[in-house]
Amino acid sequence: MTQILVIGAGPAGARCAQACAERGLRVKLVGAEPGLPYDRVALGKVLGGAAPSVLALPDPAARGIRYQPDTRITRLDRAARHAITADGGSLAYDRVVLATGSHAWRLPLPGADQPHVLLYRTLADVAAMRALARASVPAVVIGGGLLGLEAAAGLAALGCAVTVLHAMPWLMERQLNAEAAATLRRHLEARGLRFVMPAATAAIEPDAVVLKDGTRILADIVVLAVGVRPNVALGDGLAVKRGIIVDDYLRSTDPDILAIGECAEHHGQVCGLVTPALAMADVAAANLAGVPIRYVPPTLSATLKIAGLPVWSLGEIAPEGAEPITVEDADYGEYRGLWLRDGVLVGAVLCGDAADSGFYQGMLGRPIGDRAALALGPAWHKAAA
Ligand SMILES: Cc1cc2nc3c(=O)[nH]c(=O)nc-3n(C[C@H](O)[C@H](O)[C@H](O)COP(=O)(O)OP(=O)(O)OC[C@H]3O[C@@H](n4cnc5c(N)ncnc54)[C@H](O)[C@@H]3O)c2cc1C
Repeated sequence: MTQILVIGAGPAGARCAQACAERGLRVKLVGAEPGLPYDRVALGKVLGGAAPSVLALPDPAARGIRYQPDTRITRLDRAARHAITADGGSLAYDRVVLATGSHAWRLPLPGADQPHVLLYRTLADVAAMRALARASVPAVVIGGGLLGLEAAAGLAALGCAVTVLHAMPWLMERQLNAEAAATLRRHLEARGLRFVMPAATAAIEPDAVVLKDGTRILADIVVLAVGVRPNVALGDGLAVKRGIIVDDYLRSTDPDILAIGECAEHHGQVCGLVTPALAMADVAAANLAGVPIRYVPPTLSATLKIAGLPVWSLGEIAPEGAEPITVEDADYGEYRGLWLRDGVLVGAVLCGDAADSGFYQGMLGRPIGDRAALALGPAWHKAAA
């Protein structure tokens, strides 16, 4: 029976191994991290004090998968069809799924390699953050995107005095327009977070972050949340750009090696969210089982996971030439932005109240008759229909 080896036990690899087992394939899953595969998306819960076990994904062994944690693969011997482990062992395979994900990018700043400069990607990173976080300890988060804000809110909830440094003019610039981001900033400032942006960081000292204009911001903890880079080392000998290049069936340039999740590049896109990673896992398992299915990227939405602060974004945000519809209630700290192109909804942002996110998800790509009814949400839209 064909031996499938899935390398990387993050959400994509764990899901792919499970889907392979459900299709009756013989599958082995190896991952560099210790313990059971876990739901990285929910790391904020552990930062907030929950036990790491709450993130555990189903035990692969209980599903007939041979699972080997704590095992880093250093290279593939494609001629011999062996994966070589860091301790010099080798694992035989007939077909491989690379699900090695991404790593958080460590900014190449002077001082970025000190022990108090942390990342936010793994359970080990969160343990390091919790070990340093104390009431009133000054903390700086570099990066005002989804993950940076989640880390900042988590550290603030632990009592730290948090400053967020963001290189761009407004927060979450990939998911929000400037007005929605301003609403979000006001909410976070009301919770005690400070912001400096656009901020150009020059160096990290043992007790401060130094900006290019000479400003020193005290910091006993620094968290770098400035983006991720796909782990592509095992793609040596395959076509690789940002990620390992795959076709619609998720095959790399070696048809016996598939790549899924954040390490894969499909039609020039490397995904950074879990929904497409899981969709790729299912498609790869089907193709390995001889059921040819093409991967079609899902429409992406993003949710900021900070308790009591709903922020949601879908599709194209403030694209050039699109017709904007905005509703703002400054008293309640709510902002709603919608964008139409040729009368069709192409993007939406909700800040302060995201209860209508499902409604807008359903309207995406559909022609809109009554713009006012659309702006006011599902109840009005039905009444007007
Ligand atoms: C704090 C946080 C919050 C997030 N929140 C959201 C969210 O709200 N919504 C959302 O859609 N996404 C979110 N994400 C992103 C989401 O977690 C990723 O999109 C998802 O984890 C990608 O899954 P993956 O399996 O492709 O990669 P990864 O999760 O990176 O898993 C890859 C695994 O492969 C292992 N590995 C790497 N190289 C090797 C090797 N050579 N040998 C063996 N093992 C190896 C790694 O150790 C890792 O365990 C969040 C991420 C973080 C860090």
